Amino acid sequence: LVQLENVNKHFGPFQALTDINLSIPERQVAIVVGPSGSGKSTLCRTINRLETIDDDGGRILIDGQPLPQEGKELARLRAEVGMVFQSFNLFAHKSILENVTLGPMKVKGLKKARAEKEAMELLERVGVGQQAKKLPAQLSGGQQQRVAIARALAMRPKVLLFDEPTSALDPEMVQEVLDVMVQLAKEGMTMVVVTHEMGFARKAGDRVIFMADGAILEDTDPESFFTAPQHERAKDFLGKIL
Ligand code: ATP
Ligand code: MG
Repeated sequence: LVQLENVNKHFGPFQALTDINLSIPERQVAIVVGPSGSGKSTLCRTINRLETIDDDGGRILIDGQPLPQEGKELARLRAEVGMVFQSFNLFAHKSILENVTLGPMKVKGLKKARAEKEAMELLERVGVGQQAKKLPAQLSGGQQQRVAIARALAMRPKVLLFDEPTSALDPEMVQEVLDVMVQLAKEGMTMVVVTHEMGFARKAGDRVIFMADGAILEDTDPESFFTAPQHERAKDFLGKIL
C-alpha cells in the first residue's frame, strides 16, 4: 500500500534520509523506532508529502500511484494518508466537532449534516462524544489526541501515520490513546507508528523498523527486535530506552 523506493532527503547539505526502501502492505502496523535525529519524523512527513524528497530517481507510491506534486491531487493524497502528530495540531478556535467536520466538508465536499453525523460517530468511537461542543483547550491532552485521531479517520484514509502520538501526554493519559490505536490496528487499519511505547509495539505491531542516521538498519518483527536486536546501534538504543 505504501512503497518507498530509493528515497533520499537532504536539508541543504545534510542528508536526513539515505536510500530508504520500504514496502508496507495493507493492514500492516509498522513501528518506527530510533534515536533522536535519526529521521523518523522526516520519514513520516515525506510519506504524506509535508516534505519533498530528493529528485534523484527515488519515489514514493501510495496504492501504486506516485505521490502527486501539488494542487487537487495533493489534497486527495492528504485525504488518503492521515497523520497524527505529537502536538495534536487541532484548530484552537474551532469546536471539537468542527475540527472533525472541516476536512470532509472542504476536501470531500460532504454536506454539513452528513459530516456532523459521521464526526459524532467517530468522536463516540474514540470516547469523546460528550466533548463535541467544547474547544480543544477545554480537553485533556489525551482527549485532544483522541480527537486528532477521529479527525484523521474522518477523511477515511488508506493509511494513518502517527508521529510520537503519546510522547507529549501526561503518563496517565498515554494508555487511553494507545487503546484507541490498538483498536484501529485490530480493525485492520494500515498504520506507520513512530513510538517508543514497547508495550504497544509488541501488542499491535507487525514489524519494527529501526532507523539511525537517516537509514533503516533493522527491519524485523517486534519480538525479534526487542529480544535479539542484530545491529550494534539497535542494541545500544534498546539499552537506553528499556
Ligand atoms: P526525534 O526523535 O527527536 O523526533 P527524528 O528521528 O524524528 O528525531 P527528524 O526530525 O526526522 O528526526 O530529523 C532528522 C534530522 O534531520 C535531524 O538531524 C534534524 O535536525 C534534521 N532536520 C529535520 N527537519 C529539518 C529541516 N526542516 N531543516 C533542516 N534540518 C532538518
Ligand atoms: Mg521526530
